[in-house]
Amino acid sequence: MNSPSTSVSRNRLPFLIKVYFIEAFKGLAITLRHLVRNILSPEKKLETIRYPEEQKPVPKGYRGVHRLTARDDGTPRCTACYLCATVCPAKCIYIEAGEREDKSIEKFPVRFEIDELRCVYCGFCEQVCPCDAIRMDSGVVVLSGYNRRDLIFDRDNLMSRGSYDGVPLRTHAQGTQPRRKPARPEKPADGDVKPGGAPS
Ligand code: SF4
Ligand code: SF4
Repeated sequence: MNSPSTSVSRNRLPFLIKVYFIEAFKGLAITLRHLVRNILSPEKKLETIRYPEEQKPVPKGYRGVHRLTARDDGTPRCTACYLCATVCPAKCIYIEAGEREDKSIEKFPVRFEIDELRCVYCGFCEQVCPCDAIRMDSGVVVLSGYNRRDLIFDRDNLMSRGSYDGVPLRTHAQGTQPRRKPARPEKPADGDVKPGGAPS
């Protein structure tokens, strides 16, 4: 059985709008008018800052780069239960568990890494953690690195961050992985054959 159809009439655009360029220039004129007005009127406070020397405070509750919290003795609160790694939708948490001497706690993370480039900052890891061991309240919101490996943060890096209390502690994080020197081509030994076929 054919379903009933309804025809919808479209409004025809006037020719001057269809030409496009006139509307584009109108938009540019509005932008330019606001720019000139903002620059020339002293009572207008420009919403610009001298980034990166000046940085806006990060709103409370903003999910920044992870940090691992520590016990009073400085050891990680994490008990390597793998809950965060299991719930992580991006599968960017890697944990290796080791045994603690203190048998009442049993385990701790010998290795704990987060690939911050794969992370989608959903916050599941900190919500699921039973020990309040992982948090995203570091206030660090800008990441930079020379390669992907730089932005895989290890346990000590994650434990090096403090909590954010309204004033940016450090809004910029870099990896702690040592930079690898680019491999230099080895000098060919006497008698080696160059790619062209002639002995060097
Ligand atoms: S914030 Fe989400 S994606 Fe990122 S590590 Fe935690 S659970 Fe995984
Ligand atoms: S950070 Fe929390 S959830 Fe993740 S392994 Fe450690 S204790 Fe478990």
